[in-house]
Amino acid sequence: MKKRLHHQKPEPGAALFDSLVRNAIDFLQKSVQELEKHPKYSVIHFYMALELFLKARLLREHWALVVSKVEKASLQAFQSGDFNSVTIDECLQRLANIANESLLTHEHDCFRTIRDHRNKLVHFFHPDYQPPIDKNILAQIVSEQCKAWFYLHRLLTSKWEIHFANYHKQIAGLQKLIRHNQHFLMSKFNALAPEIEADKKKGISFVTCHVCGYESARIEKLHDPLFERSCLVCDWRSYFLKIPCPQCGKPVTVESEGGGECEECETTIDLDYLLEKLGPYQHPKEESSIARCSECENFEPSVIPFGEHEYLCLNCLTLHDEVGQCGWCGELITGDTSETSIWGCFWCPGPDLKD
Ligand SMILES: [Zn+2]
Ligand SMILES: [Zn+2]
Ligand SMILES: [Zn+2]
Ligand SMILES: [Zn+2]
Repeated sequence: MKKRLHHQKPEPGAALFDSLVRNAIDFLQKSVQELEKHPKYSVIHFYMALELFLKARLLREHWALVVSKVEKASLQAFQSGDFNSVTIDECLQRLANIANESLLTHEHDCFRTIRDHRNKLVHFFHPDYQPPIDKNILAQIVSEQCKAWFYLHRLLTSKWEIHFANYHKQIAGLQKLIRHNQHFLMSKFNALAPEIEADKKKGISFVTCHVCGYESARIEKLHDPLFERSCLVCDWRSYFLKIPCPQCGKPVTVESEGGGECEECETTIDLDYLLEKLGPYQHPKEESSIARCSECENFEPSVIPFGEHEYLCLNCLTLHDEVGQCGWCGELITGDTSETSIWGCFWCPGPDLKD
């Protein structure tokens, strides 16, 4: 019997993926290293790294998607690197619409801030960015970069882990480098210390900020069990839930999109548990009153009525003030539904406008 040879065709994007990721890592290292001496280049190189990581993820869907005009994509031109690639906005749009990888609004906003800052420096000459740089400007750049890295690192090591697993060592190295730059925020932290101490005396608690590493994240209870952390040093804000552990009763912190784990007995708290514990009573024969979240577009409905007039997504912990039925598909969704009978919603394609 003849043996059939299986020629595994190399995926056209594989080599480019590797080269995008390596370049992204290289630009990010440069950005961190040149922060103090060449802040302008740090901003520009940080942006380039971000753009390359996002493009690399898009490339994993299909090589043609990183070409600006997909309809003109040619494999030959692609392989020789002779093509116009997507902008960061197109890239985010394609990730959401084609790869089903929508980023959260605050991730988008944070990445756009990096882009806008870079554009400002590329197009106009700013003498303030010449060394020696003012320490407030430096602190602003560091805060921005720490936040963007927090979101990017979370994508690279959780949601997108399977794509970037081969680079986990380098990614961990970048994490260390970026942490090192947090010391540029020390003077801001010192200046805020009296205010933090005064608040603590009033009984307000502060925890270590996940983004900048200082004990400057102020905790505020919004409505039991939802809390907000807002960092006075880097302005990072986030929500979390405090839920008693189902096993041992110790309070467990549940993070946006990450669930929670009891530090005492390692019991995990997931969306199903939260829905059961905090969700409305559901009569099996009646329609569910749990809505779909337009923010995280979670596969399962995850938004429950919460507090007096609001709704809370138990997956991404976004508070919504409106829930309604899509006029096209009938799903219960968050956000403005006034035009959904014409356009559909984030969950349904809506009417086929070609008809
Ligand atoms: Zn912070
Ligand atoms: Zn426990
Ligand atoms: Zn959500
Ligand atoms: Zn719909």
